[in-house]
Amino acid sequence: MLLDQLLMHVPCAIFWKDLNSHFLGCNELFLKLAKIDRLENIVGKSDLELPWANRWEEYRKDDLHVIETLESMTRIENIALPDREIFAKTTKIPLIDKGRVVGVLGIYHDITDLMEAKKHAEAANKAKSDFLAVVSHELRTPLTGIIGMAELAQSPKTPVTPRGQMSYLKHIESASKHLLAVVNNILDFAKLEEDKFDIKNKPMNLREVIADVTNMMKVKATERKVILCIDNYPPDLPPILLGDQKALTQILLNLLGNALKFTEKGLISVAVKLVEVTQEAACICIKVEDTGVGIPEDKLDKIFERFEQVDSSVARVYGGTGLGLAVTKKLVELMQGNIRVKSKLGKGSTFYVDLTLKCADAKVYSQLIEQPKSEEIIVLEEPKKILTKSLEKAQRVLLVEDDPLIQMIHQNKLENFFYHVDVAQNGTAALSLFEQYNYGMIFMDIGLPDLTGNEVIQEIRMREKARQASPTPIIALTAYIDEDNRSKSLHAGADQVMSKPIETETIANVFQQYSA
Ligand code: ADP
Repeated sequence: MLLDQLLMHVPCAIFWKDLNSHFLGCNELFLKLAKIDRLENIVGKSDLELPWANRWEEYRKDDLHVIETLESMTRIENIALPDREIFAKTTKIPLIDKGRVVGVLGIYHDITDLMEAKKHAEAANKAKSDFLAVVSHELRTPLTGIIGMAELAQSPKTPVTPRGQMSYLKHIESASKHLLAVVNNILDFAKLEEDKFDIKNKPMNLREVIADVTNMMKVKATERKVILCIDNYPPDLPPILLGDQKALTQILLNLLGNALKFTEKGLISVAVKLVEVTQEAACICIKVEDTGVGIPEDKLDKIFERFEQVDSSVARVYGGTGLGLAVTKKLVELMQGNIRVKSKLGKGSTFYVDLTLKCADAKVYSQLIEQPKSEEIIVLEEPKKILTKSLEKAQRVLLVEDDPLIQMIHQNKLENFFYHVDVAQNGTAALSLFEQYNYGMIFMDIGLPDLTGNEVIQEIRMREKARQASPTPIIALTAYIDEDNRSKSLHAGADQVMSKPIETETIANVFQQYSA
């Protein structure tokens, strides 16, 4: 009785066979898994007559081994049940009656979930090792270049000529920029891989998002003598759509950044096509087209995979990490969209981003609807002109930074745009300088030794409010921007948050923006 109950409820499938491997009996779970309704339908049968007949030989071999050696055996095996294949851990032991072996007793339990989990863990582990191997290669290459060039520049054997020194410094600069791009891309990618990127559906003015990104790229386009324009924007597209402005900005920055990198001459255009619009949502297609080098047909699918580049040779012409499009694709997919590419080698490439964005009530969000700012960005100004213009309007600027190296770099760059660059090493010094001078702009490092940059910004905003002065544009600078850092600084009163070291063209852009 007790034995019957035990057999009935034990969470393992149990069976017993005679010396010829014919079934003598089994428990309920065995019948249930085998999809056999009654015990009579299995008793007396061999594996050859049952649903798993194709494994008959294997099972018989194990049975014989146990019968002949009188030793139990355990193995993980594949069992073909009528409706599915499972992984099972099976133990077979000799069935002994009155001192004689009379057959085999078998017990198995389903470990398919465990095996699946193991497979996933192994795959994740492999992906991690691959990722680390590629990342360490991507980091080491520019670092080795930087160290090598610095050594060469210092070596007594190297003839000291201004041109030579300039060339070493240029190499160091470009390798360092590459290194920074690699680190930024890796951090973005890691964040996306861990699903830490939170997509928000907030009201946004799509026209403005596109115009802002295009504007950001205009200095680079001018440098490369490439025309950058917004080609088409459908007038009947609802003005305010719900979406993630940050993700969309990043998508456009990556696509336009690539278009600029791979286009030597000609035109880069951004266009929006309205595919379908209902009261609830708008299906749009954002097109980024260039007249650059193009992509070979057999690489078109691959370029969206991480670390994939058309030319990954050491001597490749264009820098990059091969992560940009992987990040872009992931962001598009997080927005429930789709990204495609068409390209002709030597003629150019076109990337299409298909998105469905919900429509927001335009009346509610009327403050977000402004007249288009920048469709006029068809032909762009020369960078030199920007510089002259900025010098004409140059004013006093405050740089708050404690790291002497970053301080020197930023001070030098700011001096291109402002007559007076005052430097404060900490928050207290910054507040004291703020009391003495009227600054056109403040660049504020967030990680300061005494007060945090955010505390200093808060204090400045309070003092401005108290004396009813108009707010000074403040750019918060941080080594790595994430959503948390950004919102803390914006909340403290910063106008923008940017990552360090700040590029000259970014300074040109903010300068133009705030001195307009
Ligand atoms: P990378 O940092 O190398 O640019 P991406 O993931 O952004 O990495 O792009 C992967 C590869 O796809 C690039 O190395 C390049 O070979 C190709 N590619 C991307 N965009 C373009 C484009 N607009 N024109 C030509 N090739 C491109």
